[in-house]
Amino acid sequence: MEQIEQARKALTERFAELDVKSNILKAKELRELYGEIPKLPVEQRSAFGQAVNVLKNELETMVAAAEAAVESDSLSPVDVTAPFDINATRPKLLPTEQGTTHPLTQEIERVVEIFGRMGFVAEESREIDDQYHMFESLNFPKGHPARDDYDTFMTTQADTDGDPYVAPAHTSTMQNRILKKYYANLENDEAIAVVVPDRVFRNEDLDARHEHTFYQVEGVYVAKGVHAGMLVATLQKFLEEYYDRKLKVRVNPFYFPFTEPSFEFALECPFCESGCSVCSQSKWIELLGCGMIHPNVLKAAGIDPNVYTGFAFGCGIDRLVMMKHNIEDIRHFESAKLDFLRQF
Ligand SMILES: [Zn+2]
Repeated sequence: MEQIEQARKALTERFAELDVKSNILKAKELRELYGEIPKLPVEQRSAFGQAVNVLKNELETMVAAAEAAVESDSLSPVDVTAPFDINATRPKLLPTEQGTTHPLTQEIERVVEIFGRMGFVAEESREIDDQYHMFESLNFPKGHPARDDYDTFMTTQADTDGDPYVAPAHTSTMQNRILKKYYANLENDEAIAVVVPDRVFRNEDLDARHEHTFYQVEGVYVAKGVHAGMLVATLQKFLEEYYDRKLKVRVNPFYFPFTEPSFEFALECPFCESGCSVCSQSKWIELLGCGMIHPNVLKAAGIDPNVYTGFAFGCGIDRLVMMKHNIEDIRHFESAKLDFLRQF
């Protein structure tokens, strides 16, 4: 047994020195101890054999622990997308500067936060959708002339109706889904109150005011007894919070297939008293389209328009941000120009 104790001491000391820890299990001392067993008197063999096995188990546990430690070291997190300096002799990270959130992201978060305080939840839109959600569900039947106003991108692949898929030209593509998803709110005597701030796409001729990719925030509110005064008050409150000042607003009649009545919503220029370049010297800014949700849109989502009414609006976020920060060209947003982005 003393022989085993000496082997334990020697092996434990050597273990610390080994590069490949599992080699300890092939050590000469261990082999010799096993070789001793048949030479012992029969009555000692069992106890000796068990003691050697205890030592072997100890060594195996040490090996397993050491290997687990090596493995967890080698799995420490590495950012494979980090900007490595590939010209250095050994890979190293490039010096980093403090990054900032894109100005549109900052303002989308602000818009969602303001509507959130007014009880609206936020949903995401899609980057490809079908024509049912782009048009039919919004009371633009096939052949409706107003479809031509939405000059959007289409895929060569067709949906189950045989129509090409579209890159959504407005966030209203989400209205039907929202009304269905939150239908249970109405049954619980709660309003459907949702905003969708997301990207939309139009086949535009590009200039300082027109970009093929831009952002809208869609708002949908449905409950019993909703009327146009609530629409105007909601938008006015939102804009006053956003521009942090009292504002006058006005609505003019307009036409959209998916709202009735429809309005063009204007606000008093937040930046001048007597006319400026933002408001083209008119003191008013035509900002967005809105209206009371058309009964056919409610019906398409299984909501009874005789019981429930609602309003919807769609507001360009780029425009809000351009006005707020006095940005003269919408194309800066998607330009990835660092001298522009670093200002925010
Ligand atoms: Zn102005």
